[in-house]
Amino acid sequence: MYDVAVIGGGVIGCSIARELSKYKIRSVVIEQEGDVSCGATKANSGIIHGGYDAAHGTKKGYFSHKGNILFDQLDKELNFGFEKIGSLILAFDDNEMKTLSKIIENGEKNGVGDLKIIGRDELLELEPNAGKATGALYCKEAGIVSPYEYCIALAENAISNGVEFKFNSRVNDIHKENDIYTIKTALGEVESKVVINAAGVNSDIISNLMNEEYFHIIPRKGEYLVYAKGYGDRVNHVIFQCPNEKGKGVLVTPTYHNNLMVGPDAQIMDDKYDTSTNIDNLFDIIGKAEKSIPNLENKKIIRSFAGTRATSSLHDFIIEETKSKNFINAAGIESPGITSSPAIAKYVRSLVEKMIDLPKNDKFNPHREPNVIKKSVADMLPMKTVNEYINLGEDDLDRIVCRCEQVRQREILEALNRGIQITSTDGIKRRTRAGMGICQGRFCEPRVKKIIAKTYDISEDEITTRGIGSGSEPVRVEIMKLKKVIK
Ligand SMILES: Cc1cc2nc3c(=O)[nH]c(=O)nc-3n(C[C@H](O)[C@H](O)[C@H](O)COP(=O)(O)OP(=O)(O)OC[C@H]3O[C@@H](n4cnc5c(N)ncnc54)[C@H](O)[C@@H]3O)c2cc1C
Repeated sequence: MYDVAVIGGGVIGCSIARELSKYKIRSVVIEQEGDVSCGATKANSGIIHGGYDAAHGTKKGYFSHKGNILFDQLDKELNFGFEKIGSLILAFDDNEMKTLSKIIENGEKNGVGDLKIIGRDELLELEPNAGKATGALYCKEAGIVSPYEYCIALAENAISNGVEFKFNSRVNDIHKENDIYTIKTALGEVESKVVINAAGVNSDIISNLMNEEYFHIIPRKGEYLVYAKGYGDRVNHVIFQCPNEKGKGVLVTPTYHNNLMVGPDAQIMDDKYDTSTNIDNLFDIIGKAEKSIPNLENKKIIRSFAGTRATSSLHDFIIEETKSKNFINAAGIESPGITSSPAIAKYVRSLVEKMIDLPKNDKFNPHREPNVIKKSVADMLPMKTVNEYINLGEDDLDRIVCRCEQVRQREILEALNRGIQITSTDGIKRRTRAGMGICQGRFCEPRVKKIIAKTYDISEDEITTRGIGSGSEPVRVEIMKLKKVIK
């Protein structure tokens, strides 16, 4: 019997699990995939928003700023990598400059300080490659993370502080008897006093298992393009476009590991698991991105991907105890859910505190060692040396397994031994960056498979690329088409 069962191992479920590991209770995270961070958490912009954008008075407005200010400390504890590079919203005419003033007003009401409007000269000092913007709203407090590394860090720290995780355990039904919930999963039943629904795009379905329907999820897909490592230097900040009657525009940002990323668009989807990308949409995104930063080099594109927002029909986050007592919804957490996650976790803890005793876990250790050490282009070894390391013996810990990102065997073994059994090459990619480079895993994927199989003494046939039950394959095909069209 558990005290708390969290359904969903995305950033919301893992943040809550880590927060609850500060208390001496028995908690479990139940996840339908074979790993954490397989839903929206792995495929988004990775922006820690300033908190000025979401309307004042909404939960999004409240939690985004409160979450933002927790990230410095969280990164010190969990070492997932966070850089406060600041953000700019570009305005291209007088109307948009007026909109920026309204955004500042809203941000100040949300509690965000240090927001200012800058003119074109200052903008060009900050962003020499900016297009024809007349000015911008500058927010120093915004930053970037690698969202899956953040989620993995939360899960690893929760595990080391006693939280259990059940993978490949899709929740199909829930019953309640004598104040105890019985959760029926694909791999058996779990009993718990408290249930927390953090099931992302399925959070309406999970809520409906114990409550009358009071919201539904509208899946909204967003597509992106990623450019080669080092090309992140094209910009110094997260660059947004001012929302206007045509929409929110797209963003251009360096990623934490110094790729450049552009996107996303917003498409309402019938199939919530469809994460394919489409060449016409990608062209549209490039066109919009070039309004902010002209002359992006298409030959530097290495990948496209898409993620699906769990937009709620109530147009806000839903974080509350439901009519079914001791059942909490942390549902409809679309953007800025990564940003808001630490504040949401604290708020959910305050709800749990009213349901069961939460004695302090005196052994709670907030620290977690990093898995990936960030490498800049300047840190990369010359190809001749890389080839020497590639050819080291199969058991040599210094052997380079991923040529593009120069990931060593040691780092992969380390990732495999952190409390989550990883049986997909994508799981290793998200932890070590093996497969994130220009060749997108063509070189290292078979090698990574071999290492996983040997470490866990399982057959290579049991190792998939994306995990069992995941969405579609990555869309290398769209990139090939794109590269053919654009010289
Ligand atoms: C295109 C896009 C851009 C975004 N950009 C940003 C950004 O820049 N900054 C920001 O702060 N936020 C951003 N977000 C929002 C952010 O990604 C989400 O708010 C956040 O990842 C939601 O986390 P979650 O844990 O609620 O959902 P998820 O990460 O989707 O996790 C839900 C989990 O529940 C599991 N699950 C579902 N059903 C079941 C079941 N029946 N049984 C067991 N498990 C189940 C899923 O497998 C999944 O792992 C963006 C989102 C998208 C899609």
